[in-house]
Amino acid sequence: PVPVVLFTSDLRLHDHPPLRAALEAADAVVPLFVRDDAVTAAGFAAPNRGAFLADCLADLDASLRERGGRLVVRSGDLVEEVCRVAGEAGADEVRMAAAHSRFATRREERLRRALEREGRRLLVHDAVTVAVPPGEVTPSSSDHFAVFTPYYRQWARAPLRAAVAAPRRVRVPDAVMGEPLPARGEVTGVSPALPAGGESEGRRRMTAYWRHGLDAYADTRDDLAADATSRLSAHLHFGTLSPVELVHRARRHGGPGAEALVRQLAWRDFHRQVLAARPGAARADYRTRHDRWRTGRTAEADIEAWKEGRTGYPVIDAAMRQLRHEGWMHNRARLLTASFLTKTLYVDWRVGAAHFLYWLVDGDVANNQLNWQWVAGTGTDTRPNRVLNPVTQARRYDPDGAYVRHWVPELEGVGAPAVHEPWKLPGPDRAALDYPDPVVGLAEGLERFRRARGRKDRP
Ligand code: FAD
Repeated sequence: PVPVVLFTSDLRLHDHPPLRAALEAADAVVPLFVRDDAVTAAGFAAPNRGAFLADCLADLDASLRERGGRLVVRSGDLVEEVCRVAGEAGADEVRMAAAHSRFATRREERLRRALEREGRRLLVHDAVTVAVPPGEVTPSSSDHFAVFTPYYRQWARAPLRAAVAAPRRVRVPDAVMGEPLPARGEVTGVSPALPAGGESEGRRRMTAYWRHGLDAYADTRDDLAADATSRLSAHLHFGTLSPVELVHRARRHGGPGAEALVRQLAWRDFHRQVLAARPGAARADYRTRHDRWRTGRTAEADIEAWKEGRTGYPVIDAAMRQLRHEGWMHNRARLLTASFLTKTLYVDWRVGAAHFLYWLVDGDVANNQLNWQWVAGTGTDTRPNRVLNPVTQARRYDPDGAYVRHWVPELEGVGAPAVHEPWKLPGPDRAALDYPDPVVGLAEGLERFRRARGRKDRP
């Protein structure tokens, strides 16, 4: 029998334990990807990720062809399609990577039952899309860690499986046919500067970053204009790079930069273990705070200004424009824009999370929803009421104003530090700028937030 290897968020050949195990047991496999209708129905199929996915599938297919095989792509209901392909291949087993959201675990359960009804087995591999799987390290009193620092201490000591090499040959039976691959060019509404996807591109980026960026990461990761982070997030989201391999490589490289990067990779696993234990946290507050978020016409107008990058706060506007243009935003900028929406504007984090999830090429239920909750103070932050000041933060992380001027050309001629608070420019200079006034004063926003939280949180 020919096993089926179902690819989901693990679109690579390097360090792919399900494929490796299948090839050890049989001399041919069916590498399958299903374009699941339910993903579209659930609203996860945004244009930027659709385009990046097309690159990933094309690259995976090309790499399989170099090894004598090909990728089989089908579309429809994932469970039905996998069962159909397993039937055509005469497979006795299907292998796949473990997933952690409610959507994915329910789908996995449905698939397991459907395959079992036909006398086939589903084999699910851990530590494919994460380095340390949810549940592997836990505190003594709970099924998951709610605070990052103690989690990280245990995570760093957890055993890590060895990375496995890419296969040299992959034979795929001719009898199992697929559909044409989706083409990136067919996706409309894509960000103009969306990066290319695919394992080959991910490995190129990783190698280049290890050579030229990693050593400085600890010092430069918060510098908005330096653009000095790895930009590997979309590759981790689609699994074109393996988190296990990245952690091994960073540890071998050593030094403060590599150590800081490993710590960020642990954040990824941290949010996954929260989501795996509390799948409802994708929508509901992880910690209930009884917020009565602003709604109504003025809130709607503020939300629009935030989405379009015209709040009158240059660093916020720069970041929101970067998001649309690249399908990506710097982490410091994500923190600032999320704090601005949920605290300064006091708008529900779900509104911001949905906007991010639409545009982000790395948009990921665990990382996005739980980072939003972290910033909003409904999540795992141990200081839930801190408010990031967009002016002082901009002065610190964009001291020359280069990031702001790049994305907000209206402020091109304005030097630092005035570029971060143009409303303070002398009258004629201010009047000459085609740039809006702040949607709300920072003191006013802070006061509104403190009043709301203070009152609602009292028992
Ligand atoms: P680097 O700084 O090079 O970090 C390396 C890797 O570590 C990243 O690729 C990522 O996989 C992981 N990582 C880094 N920071 C975090 C973090 N705080 N939480 C989880 N993993 C992290 N990340 C996503 O991958 N998808 C999202 O949808 C997402 N939404 C976010 C929303 C908000 C409001 C905030 C504050 C953060 C969000 N992040 C998200 C986390 C982080 O901003 C991005 O992972 C990071 O900016 C990606 O750029 P990079 O690859 O250059 O990161």
